[in-house]
Amino acid sequence: MNTEAALAQVRWPDGYRFAFSIFDDTDRSTLDNAPPIYALLRDLGMRTTKSVWPLPGTRAPSVVGGSTCGDPAYLAWVQQLQREGFEIGLHNVTFHSSTREEVRTGLERFAEFFGHPPRSLATHTDCRDGMYWGNARVSNSHRLLYDVLTRFRQRDFGGHVDGGPHFWGDLCQAQVDYVRNFTFPGLNTLKSCPWMPYFDPDRPWANAWFASSEGADCTRFNNALSEAAQDELVEEGGACIMYTHFGKGFCTDGAINRRFVELMTRLSARGGWFVPVSSLLDHIAATRGGVHPLARHERGRLERRWLAHKLAHGTS
Ligand SMILES: [Zn+2]
Repeated sequence: MNTEAALAQVRWPDGYRFAFSIFDDTDRSTLDNAPPIYALLRDLGMRTTKSVWPLPGTRAPSVVGGSTCGDPAYLAWVQQLQREGFEIGLHNVTFHSSTREEVRTGLERFAEFFGHPPRSLATHTDCRDGMYWGNARVSNSHRLLYDVLTRFRQRDFGGHVDGGPHFWGDLCQAQVDYVRNFTFPGLNTLKSCPWMPYFDPDRPWANAWFASSEGADCTRFNNALSEAAQDELVEEGGACIMYTHFGKGFCTDGAINRRFVELMTRLSARGGWFVPVSSLLDHIAATRGGVHPLARHERGRLERRWLAHKLAHGTS
């Protein structure tokens, strides 16, 4: 039986009741605001995924920047996180658009810094090397609706366009296991996207795709993680991969948002499996005997669900 409801039921290892992870897009993260958050996660027994920019930028940031692995002290801290069990993912190779050669160099740096290629990737906004980004995130007739919603400003991303100046699809395919596309409301990501991790035959440079739950900044994260939503996630035995930016409002002048601490502390005591994004996705794929090949009607459903969310909230 391959219904959505059946696919959303996954048995978690060691009797854990649900699974929870976070992919932290590194925008605005610095040594001032990020370490207290990760110390909290570590102390709560959570190991999630922190993304990095391996290269220092040489041009102005796309929309927003933050610290990169070009800063030795910052790099040392991220490497310490990795030793503690956090996954280090990729948020493009830096905070602005990169050429193919720059991407190649960035991937080499990443492997030098962390011992292996990035297993997971989420695209940084407005980078021309975005992998199936902008209106390439959706198909056919949905593309026009997306273009209208985004006022035709989210076009011409070229990470996947073979022969173009920003193409790196072959490198992505050779090195990266999981790529994020859609973000949905609701804590149970697996309920919104029961097919993840999935292979999309129309986007073959990505080996597998995953979705996320909307929590882009501290306010949205806390709203998504309400007590009622936590209880529902536990009840459903679901899986959550939060989309967020820990650099956006979680920690100010060394003090972590109190509501965030309260909610995460509560969640940490609910019998969840708190692992990095790639570990979570590996487990789902293993229980199914591999990555799910996404059928066209399934992709249509995902796209409609996402566009409806975008229409209502205008977010990623
Ligand atoms: Zn970003």
